[in-house]
Amino acid sequence: MVPVQKFKNFILKDVADENETKKASVIMRCSSLLLSVFFTLQTIVLFVTGYPLAAVIGLLCLFAYLAAFSMTYQGYTILTQHFIELLTLGWVAAFIGIMGWDCSYQHMIFSLMLFSLLTSYRNFIYKAVFSAFLCLFRLALYFYIHLHPPVYTVGRSAMYLLNIINTFSTFLLFFVIAYLFSRDSMEMEEKLVKYNKKIEKLAKTDTLTKLPNRRDAMERIEKLLKKSKEVDFYMDIAIGDIDFFKKVNDTYGHEAGDAVLLQMAEILEKDMGDDGFVARWGGEEFLFVYTTMNGDDAAMHLNNLKTKISQTAFKYNDTTMKLTMTFGLEEYDFHNSIDDVINSADEKLYLGKTGGRNQVVF
Ligand code: GH3
Ligand code: MG
Ligand code: MG
Repeated sequence: MVPVQKFKNFILKDVADENETKKASVIMRCSSLLLSVFFTLQTIVLFVTGYPLAAVIGLLCLFAYLAAFSMTYQGYTILTQHFIELLTLGWVAAFIGIMGWDCSYQHMIFSLMLFSLLTSYRNFIYKAVFSAFLCLFRLALYFYIHLHPPVYTVGRSAMYLLNIINTFSTFLLFFVIAYLFSRDSMEMEEKLVKYNKKIEKLAKTDTLTKLPNRRDAMERIEKLLKKSKEVDFYMDIAIGDIDFFKKVNDTYGHEAGDAVLLQMAEILEKDMGDDGFVARWGGEEFLFVYTTMNGDDAAMHLNNLKTKISQTAFKYNDTTMKLTMTFGLEEYDFHNSIDDVINSADEKLYLGKTGGRNQVVF
């Protein structure tokens, strides 16, 4: 496993960050390496089967692809790309001229086309022209070799062997290039989806209390209303506001105020359980949405919560504080808009404030 990891790191060297040039470098490295192996094999086979001229060209190509491989580590991305393109065009033409059409060297043009399209970041026109050029190049080779006989008349067994090697290598190269490109795109896509989800969550969450924020609260209410056609649908909306909260800030400081808000949010969320949700409506105000009970039950529930809050010791460092909360509650019904219900809850909250605080007004 360790050598595999080492090799992977070597191929991905200096490409830790995801960007286009680096993706191209990895494709180039893998392609040159694969073609180096291809030419090692070619050189041996051609030499053994008695085609020395082709074997020598194969050996030169092997060195050329090794040079291309090392070039990708020097940062010459565009230069390497053009070098590989020219080199491939050159040897395909040479091998067709020497060995003829039937050894399947021409298939490598398809892999070259994929290589060029996926490693260059040029515009549409450039890519279209280059692809058209490759198409004409292949046709030109075909007609040329049918008008001018190749240097060697290749024997049957060598031809079979070369066809196997060349076809296999072309497909393998095609696969490797396409795989590297698609893997990279998929990784990018995955990252983007994760990032979007994170942003979406951030946009919905109150940074201090981690409760849903006002925006998310409204979206959740809209969603609930869409489902409201179901039987036994309840929705009670309450706004709770901490009494004399300014005093906490004034007496113990803003940080103490924040700590109290956080502690309060935990109590409220725990108390709500599966009966609906609590959101931070703003400042020291919280929105309560009950979906499992009618208004009277919600009022009873809130009265218990009000008592629980008044009995809680809120802590900040060594300081202990006592707090109360006032609530305005309204039950949703189909005749009113959601804004009306929220406004009504707010008016009732105001009544609770002017009427002595620490109470639930329904
Ligand atoms: P009332 O009983 O009438 O509601 O009195 P109150 O003091 O709670 O109300 P007021 O609206 O006068 O003051 C609310 C205070 O809440 C003022 C503001 O500084 C504080 N506050 C709002 N948001 C935050 C916050 O995120 N952190 C802290 N520490 N304080 C906050
Ligand atoms: Mg207040
Ligand atoms: Mg307030």
